Amino acid sequence: MLTKKMLIGGQWVDAAAGKTLNTYNPSNGEVFGQVPSAGAEDVDKAVAAARAAYPEWSGYTQEKRSNILRKIGAALRARAKEAAHLAAQEHGMPEELGFGPTMGACGNFEMAATYAHSIMGDFINNSSRSPNVMYCLDRVPIGVCALIIPWNLPLFLMSQKIALAISTGNTCVVKPPSTNSLVGLFLAEVVDSVEDLPKGVVNVITGPGSSVGNALASHPGVDAVGFTGSTETGVAIMQAAAPTIKKVIMELGGKNPAIIFPDANLDLAIESLGHHQFFNCGQACGSPGRYYIHESVHDEFIEKLLAVAKRQTLGDPTKKETTMGPMVSTEHFDKVMAYIDSGVKEGAKLLYGGKRWGDKGCFIEPTIFTGVTPEMKIYREEIFGPVAVTMKWSDEDEVIRLANDNTYGLTASIWTRNIARALKLGKRLTVGTFSVNAHNLICAEAPWGGVRESGIGKEGGKQGVLEYTEQKMITINLAE
Ligand code: NAD
Repeated sequence: MLTKKMLIGGQWVDAAAGKTLNTYNPSNGEVFGQVPSAGAEDVDKAVAAARAAYPEWSGYTQEKRSNILRKIGAALRARAKEAAHLAAQEHGMPEELGFGPTMGACGNFEMAATYAHSIMGDFINNSSRSPNVMYCLDRVPIGVCALIIPWNLPLFLMSQKIALAISTGNTCVVKPPSTNSLVGLFLAEVVDSVEDLPKGVVNVITGPGSSVGNALASHPGVDAVGFTGSTETGVAIMQAAAPTIKKVIMELGGKNPAIIFPDANLDLAIESLGHHQFFNCGQACGSPGRYYIHESVHDEFIEKLLAVAKRQTLGDPTKKETTMGPMVSTEHFDKVMAYIDSGVKEGAKLLYGGKRWGDKGCFIEPTIFTGVTPEMKIYREEIFGPVAVTMKWSDEDEVIRLANDNTYGLTASIWTRNIARALKLGKRLTVGTFSVNAHNLICAEAPWGGVRESGIGKEGGKQGVLEYTEQKMITINLAE
């Protein structure tokens, strides 16, 4: 069994109360690791450590900070294979495929280092009030940030949040997901190995969300909360953060429409959508949640999607040939299976899959539903599993209405060779990001984030760096 400690103020510590939390290998259900289960006392210590480190870190030149971020990226790159192997065991992400997001995690530090360096303030001359008054807008860090991470891509998302937050001088306390905390503590080791980084800039504490996450979100010593996770938890965090008016950056759930037109390049569409449907077992916020397929190409598209489902290789995520590992946990396995049952009961056609795979672990067959209708639960709610939910459409206005008729607004894709049409329709979609002839093609430089119940603010790129800053106005009177 792998055990790790938490990182508070540069010290590797157990929880003050001595409590621990087990993590499991979802391929076989066995205990895989043990981490500290923090309590309120540990949260206080971690926040105090981050506050103590703030004056020094925020006072560094941007060049010095950016160089340190690049060193963290390089240190992670050197251990990327180890990270992907750990994630395969603790989370079930196939090692071969998990290597991509791991390299993306290294890129997050390099991206933030570069953008933080390019941030400029603003300047207002000849103000309406007096020609003798100048106003300067400075960009300053917010202070201590609590960063709360989900289990679905923990290394990538944790690296992104840490990089964005500390790049401009904030310090942070990070809470990795309780389901797979070891990956988070692995990243803490990598960060801590960079000697130039002052102790206490990055603190990582593990434990249940309901206690540790909540204590962080409500802590008076925390100035901002960066959260990625479910909308339900996002609401709880906003409520906890409200009494002390903390800034919140929320990356929440999605039920993402993919709209396929008669003139779409179906092979291109399937290559991308098929990949995102089954990558990480569909446990990705941006994976396609609802397929709207024009009736004239419906059958051909479904044939192609079926072929992608059939060629998935399920099994041990550490093996090179595996394309789909287990779901992350038994709880999540049960949740996804309940969605599949509800789809069947509500009358959708189960075209493929829908059953447990193998005799142990949390594996679910790649699954396709056709003939789904808008009142069904599988149509309205985020499944977060390898389950394709498809329906036919024939009227353009109606398909846009349907696509917008959901509480989420994360991302969408439109598949057509008529780019003008795609761009015009895309303007009518209520989402934070939409793609034309691509789905979820994220990159470190591009800001990502949803609207409505999918979130507040952006992560990634320059906008992501700016989210973790405030504007401070400086008034200068030139009168003598
Ligand atoms: P979750 O909301 O259950 O947990 C996320 C984190 O919050 C975990 O660290 C958890 O321990 C913590 N937490 C739980 N209750 C808390 C509370 N009351 N106060 C503070 N923290 C608490 O989410 P999950 O199941 O880990 O992740 C899946 C969800 O994340 C999906 O809805 C998915 O769409 C979303 N997600 C969104 C994005 C995005 O960029 N929009 C990216 C990845 C995942």
